[in-house]
Amino acid sequence: MSHAHFDHVDHIQFLDPLIPVYLGEGTKFFLEAMEETSGFCDYKEHEYQTFRTGKKVKVGNLEVEPIHVDHSIPAAYGFLIHTSEGTVVYTGDLRLHGPRKEMTEEFIQKAKNCEPVAMICEGTRVVDKEKRKNYSEEKVRTSSEKVVTSTDKIIFLTQYSRDMDRFRSFYTIATKNDRKIVISPKKAFLLNRLMQDDRLQLPDPLKDPDILVYYKKKKSGKYEERDYYKWEREFMDKMVTTDFVRKNQDKLIMDLGFYQFAELIDIRPEKGSHFIHSMSEPFSEEDVEDEIMHNWMEHFGMQFHQLHASGHMNKQQIIDSVNYINPKACFPIHTENQQLFKESGRNVRLTESQKTYEVS
Ligand SMILES: [Zn+2]
Repeated sequence: MSHAHFDHVDHIQFLDPLIPVYLGEGTKFFLEAMEETSGFCDYKEHEYQTFRTGKKVKVGNLEVEPIHVDHSIPAAYGFLIHTSEGTVVYTGDLRLHGPRKEMTEEFIQKAKNCEPVAMICEGTRVVDKEKRKNYSEEKVRTSSEKVVTSTDKIIFLTQYSRDMDRFRSFYTIATKNDRKIVISPKKAFLLNRLMQDDRLQLPDPLKDPDILVYYKKKKSGKYEERDYYKWEREFMDKMVTTDFVRKNQDKLIMDLGFYQFAELIDIRPEKGSHFIHSMSEPFSEEDVEDEIMHNWMEHFGMQFHQLHASGHMNKQQIIDSVNYINPKACFPIHTENQQLFKESGRNVRLTESQKTYEVS
């Protein structure tokens, strides 16, 4: 398993539990947190074996060498699969514009050194014409900080819950600008579990005075322990509620996902407050969720900012990587545009579901 994004892990619940699962140590922490905090993840029954970068894993006659890559979630890996016919490279998901791009560079170099017989390559952003902005994580951070320093009103933001680079960016901005960051109990739980991996260097939501945890009003209306799931209760010492947020708007940056927008009704943000959408832009102009989001913005007179960096390399970077690694054959996956890989001039073999391919 290359990393803990849903499209890479969720189907293990359909796998025969007798099949062991190999995954990064960090990925294991993510799966455990996901299982605990959401009703629909159940990954438990397998035999889980964890690895770190460079630690070779023997699977039958194959030797799999996981190498860390930079992606929009920690503990992401590409694989060098050493076989009797030569090495097969699998990229996983990766990018070259994140805070740890040198990990991706290391993977690309090691892949090249193997003179691979095949490369199985992701192509999320391999599109004819890129319509979305091409920001780096650094650009997201500096642009977001500009928004924060320009205002004494509250800043809301929405981001992917498992992107710890993005969390770190906003946490840094908040602490630098005398604001506290308000997160959900779910995020606090994830942070708390990921702290077991000291390489990630994340703050402790239970101890860090700059992190507050927002509890929604539930049935009793009194914010009682029994109103919340067991896993949510761990952070009640750090609890803030609508009243606190409403009265301290100039001192906060608050994480607020699309499905929590109803909280705005009680928070009553001041006119001219800010909302940073730190996620992918909508796929089409008819995106319903996007329209609803903008209706909320308009209703509260909030200023909208689109600031996001992708977790994936763009088309040119993919083509350049394929060319540099120079595999005997390249198999595009994780893409809607396999044929565009042919611009690399390499031997590109288009893949079809349920078909077997031989390499040598
Ligand atoms: Zn991914």
